[in-house]
Amino acid sequence: MRVGVVGAGISGLSVVHALSKHDTDCEIVGLEAREEPGGIVRSQRIDGHLLELGPQRLRLTPGIESLVEELNLREQLQFGDDDQPLYIYYDGKLRVVPLSARAALRTDLLSPFGKLRILAEPLTRPEQPGETVDEYLSRRFGTQAARRYMGPLYSGLYGTDTDEMLMEYSLGRALESTGVGRSLLVWVIRRLLEGRETPPICTFDEGLGTLTNALYEAHSESISLSRPVENIVAADGGYELQTANGTDHVDQVVLTTPAAATAELVKELDIELAETLGRFNYNPIGMVFLQSTFDREGIGALVPPGGELPISGSTWNASFLDRDGVFTCYVDPNSDPEMPNRTNDELGEVAAEAFERLTGSEASVLGVHRWKPGMPAYDRSWTAMDDLSTPTGLHLCTNYVDRAGIPGRIRSAKRVVETILGT
Ligand SMILES: Cc1cc2nc3c(=O)[nH]c(=O)nc-3n(C[C@H](O)[C@H](O)[C@H](O)COP(=O)(O)OP(=O)(O)OC[C@H]3O[C@@H](n4cnc5c(N)ncnc54)[C@H](O)[C@@H]3O)c2cc1C
Repeated sequence: MRVGVVGAGISGLSVVHALSKHDTDCEIVGLEAREEPGGIVRSQRIDGHLLELGPQRLRLTPGIESLVEELNLREQLQFGDDDQPLYIYYDGKLRVVPLSARAALRTDLLSPFGKLRILAEPLTRPEQPGETVDEYLSRRFGTQAARRYMGPLYSGLYGTDTDEMLMEYSLGRALESTGVGRSLLVWVIRRLLEGRETPPICTFDEGLGTLTNALYEAHSESISLSRPVENIVAADGGYELQTANGTDHVDQVVLTTPAAATAELVKELDIELAETLGRFNYNPIGMVFLQSTFDREGIGALVPPGGELPISGSTWNASFLDRDGVFTCYVDPNSDPEMPNRTNDELGEVAAEAFERLTGSEASVLGVHRWKPGMPAYDRSWTAMDDLSTPTGLHLCTNYVDRAGIPGRIRSAKRVVETILGT
């Protein structure tokens, strides 16, 4: 069997890796548009500073840990300091996000009533049909907790307002796949009593690109870089992957490209699928890398939408990853409606100024990177999931149909491979 894998980001690379681990006669044809692997995972050194243009860190789940062992990356693994607090900027001040019982007692983010209200969650009704994430969180945990930190914590990276996210297609799916039952609070308490810990935060000495580069090196004979697929058509019971310099015939194909790019590839093959894919919204994200002497310990700070500052948050790489003076700020149209029209210089200035107000420390701009498309928005356009149907032998392994985080991408690659091989 020949299997085509389109895209060599973490999803495509994980599919190739999982396929090659099975003892079958499967030939893999991996095709990547860019001249380097990794997709959104991109680590770069600028003026000696290690910057992550995409994800900043991941969790060392059992799946990631086995990959680290298989690729012999243990010595390059770097652990982040999990004990540092996460902040939220509320009412002109940085306040600790109550993610543990200790932080909940210490934080001045919620009033005593706001804290008590959270405890009522097990008594409230579970998810209701048609409910938005904002309605769900407010009803179950109270508006203080919902709007001041829970909503921004969930929706921040997607750049989408929680009142535009339907539970059924966003948080509800995530809770279901994590095995959270009727009550999130009961689930958290049970895990604490069982002594189950969240896997530690990690990265690599030279950034997360180490992982995608190592995956590519391990399978470079099966992956062609700088070879964008231009069109996919049905042929001889399988598919033809057409590129500028030749066509590959495969029996099955895995598409790991963003929704709009995938729609372009399949429009001749299946116009209905292309139209459905065209409905998924993505939000652009601006990443602004700053250097500052700000020295408070922390993982970072979230900024809820609402106009207090024109950024959605910042990651404090300098603190929890010990990266010399580096801070990453995020700008999206939800935090700064002018963001799409700003030049990179303007974006840098906006973020540096916001960072200075956030922390009280000066910052200079090291670099700016834009993702367009950035993250799947998981907004109301996700009702398109109900109409998503792919022809036999064509598989989607991407962050818009499943979990977006790197561990989730690796798990979904394994599932797709099991489907392909019928194991
Ligand atoms: C700003 C940002 C921060 C994030 N932070 C975190 C984090 O801290 N931790 C975490 O776990 N996750 C994070 N995520 C999520 C995670 O990084 C992504 O969901 C994941 O990297 C997506 O990988 P992918 O392989 O599915 O897609 P992509 O990385 O988009 O890969 C798709 C690949 O397809 C290629 N391609 C496109 N068109 C074609 C074509 N026609 N032919 C061939 N190839 C093509 C592209 O060049 C690309 O390499 C973040 C995401 C973003 C955007």
